[in-house]
Amino acid sequence: MGESLSTFKIRIIGLVQGVGFRPFVYRIALQNSLLGTVDNRNDGVIIEINATKNQCDKFVYQIDNQAPQASVIERIEINEIPNKQFPDFRIIKSDNNEIRDEITEVSPDIAVCDACIEDVKSQKHRINYLLTNCTHCGPRFTIIKQLPYDRPNTTMADFKLCEICHDEYTNVMDRRFHAQPVACNSCGPIYKLYSNGNIETNVDSIICEMATIIDNGGIIAVKGVGGYHIVCSALQSEAVNRIRAIKQRDAKPMAVMYANEDALLKYAYADSSQLELLNSWRRPIVLLKAKYKFHKSVSSGFTTVGSVLPYMPLHYALFEQCNSDAIVLTSANIAGAPIIIDDNIAVSFFADKVDAVITYGREIHNRVDDSVAYTVNNSPRLIRRSRSFAPSPIRINFDVDGILAVGAELVNTFCLGRKKQAIPSQHIGDLKNAETLEFYQESIERYSDLFKFKARAIACDLHPDYMSSKYAAQQNIELVKVQHHHAHMASCMLENNISDNVIGIILDGTGLGIDGNIWGGEFLFGDYSNFERISHFSYIPLPGGDMVTKEPWRTAISYLYKVYGRDLLDLDIPLIHEIGKDKISFLIAMIEKGINSPLSSSAGRLFDAVAALTGICINSSFHAEAPMRLQDVITSENISESYSYSVDGSTINFDIMIQEIVSDLSNNMELGVISQKFHNTIIAVSINMCQEISMTKGCNKVVLSGGVFQNDFLSSKLETQLTNKGFDVYVHNKVPANDAGISLGQIAIAAHKLRN
Ligand code: ZN
Ligand code: ZN
Ligand code: FE
Repeated sequence: MGESLSTFKIRIIGLVQGVGFRPFVYRIALQNSLLGTVDNRNDGVIIEINATKNQCDKFVYQIDNQAPQASVIERIEINEIPNKQFPDFRIIKSDNNEIRDEITEVSPDIAVCDACIEDVKSQKHRINYLLTNCTHCGPRFTIIKQLPYDRPNTTMADFKLCEICHDEYTNVMDRRFHAQPVACNSCGPIYKLYSNGNIETNVDSIICEMATIIDNGGIIAVKGVGGYHIVCSALQSEAVNRIRAIKQRDAKPMAVMYANEDALLKYAYADSSQLELLNSWRRPIVLLKAKYKFHKSVSSGFTTVGSVLPYMPLHYALFEQCNSDAIVLTSANIAGAPIIIDDNIAVSFFADKVDAVITYGREIHNRVDDSVAYTVNNSPRLIRRSRSFAPSPIRINFDVDGILAVGAELVNTFCLGRKKQAIPSQHIGDLKNAETLEFYQESIERYSDLFKFKARAIACDLHPDYMSSKYAAQQNIELVKVQHHHAHMASCMLENNISDNVIGIILDGTGLGIDGNIWGGEFLFGDYSNFERISHFSYIPLPGGDMVTKEPWRTAISYLYKVYGRDLLDLDIPLIHEIGKDKISFLIAMIEKGINSPLSSSAGRLFDAVAALTGICINSSFHAEAPMRLQDVITSENISESYSYSVDGSTINFDIMIQEIVSDLSNNMELGVISQKFHNTIIAVSINMCQEISMTKGCNKVVLSGGVFQNDFLSSKLETQLTNKGFDVYVHNKVPANDAGISLGQIAIAAHKLRN
């Protein structure tokens, strides 16, 4: 009382576009009877209000605490400015082009919110309208063709709003104010079910039929947010095997969607950090320890299960009708090709393969897969960054404008640089697949159009044979070649905003080194501009080259040969009997003559070798199966023993460890114990190297990157122990530690090299 009003300028920085932030601010201002304006600009949301200091603080507090679920407030700046008068509170469109760049941020897709699920049950014009959404939820990136994010620029352009929807769309107090995809039963796209040549369009019948098919052990292709899924009961192994037959070559564990959190906890263990991730608006698939022993057709024999909660109205409606409370939900991608998004292709391709195909009339413009996450020491990590993450930028503290980073080869992503933002693409896939390569090129074009991006330089991997490197070479633009593991290190530095020197522990599958060998067990020191390779796992020939990833036994034999020479043939361990002496002798000849046996220091290959040596995984049917199985056999966490290794100059030698493992195998030691001792060895080596580098370089910062860090046992123990030893440990939270993170590292390195 009596306190005079001042004018405050409040700037909110973060992901605040396309998520209903301005109407939200408007409603809070109205609640507090404040006069002023709110404006959405490229550098953030700008609010000006007349208020007392207390009113302003309360207003900002409410904004910070009640913000729409999909917004991310990174920073709020409050400044008092010269007094202004406002007649009311309004949302303005600033017309000053100097301060108002076009809005160039695109929100990722958002899981349906609780209020919309409620509307589907109670709102007259939306009863069972399964494409219901509001300003706080629904599709975004998947439907946008062009900026700005307005309905005519989305795949909803052809659907004219009915009067009721139009009222909602234009009423600032309504939850659907400016919700671009808003629609209802009378004006929106509809679901259709195709089966046996019939088309069903009644939504109640569709849900009923869908539930019946699933409960009776059938399979269905159903359109999701970013592409088609194939679904069936998770408890009917014959149905799951039918899905596997359709997908071909895919022996990976399947993800399971549960009716709700209670159902999930029946089948899997989840702690509070995992539940938070599962329930977040991004609804990723989260890897959990299974409580229920799923059939091998679902789990591929793993003790974990990829778990996800419903995120579309259809999912909720289905579980209300279905007796099954756990369904397999797997992306409809065939033999490594991208996930199917086209309705005509889906209907014709699946017609004779599934029991029903369910489509809806809103076109998917940008394809996204389900994102996949896990937790390490209660913090979320990504394996696949796609739905509900892309195309969010990563804000950094230097300029990467005009740089296109084309990424690696497997689990590829690319990355665009816009001023101080790196924009990684969604998960693209394996570029060796021709259709995936097409998707890759199309996506680079689409991102370039969408973000009005023109590359002035391209960053690519050192490996000339990667399809991404070939693509880069064809573009006739200044090219910066980046060593793969330097890129891993830089990727982790960039997302943690570190610019000075770091120790990089890079445990990875493959990547071409500057000496022409294949690297992957690397201890680096450096920054974005330069790096030194301080030490690495000792080189081992990989007889058969690329074949070793599918046949880990080859790498195991190579390690045995290094230790025992030809005497390895006399070892009395299962691997030797299983492969047979003829095949092994042939392999030895290859190694001795150096035929197709490139040298590698890869950590991933060492994991492969130990998985094969122990008989846990001799042949691999999907990427990284061997290390995943090796980790999966660990049953308790309290074995502290490890194996021996030696350090010879800059090489780390595991010969003694191989001997000790052979001896443990001969003594019939439990495989879980052997595996754990092996993991402990890798942890011990890493800490040891870190301490040595830290002593000589006087550096305390460690970044962990590379595909091997998807191993949560290794990650959690190493992070904890390094932290306990006083290191500042930085890990990947924003992009995956695997090769999906490479493009982010490439862009950072290229920006620095171009500057010098
Ligand atoms: Zn909603
Ligand atoms: Zn309508
Ligand atoms: Fe890699």
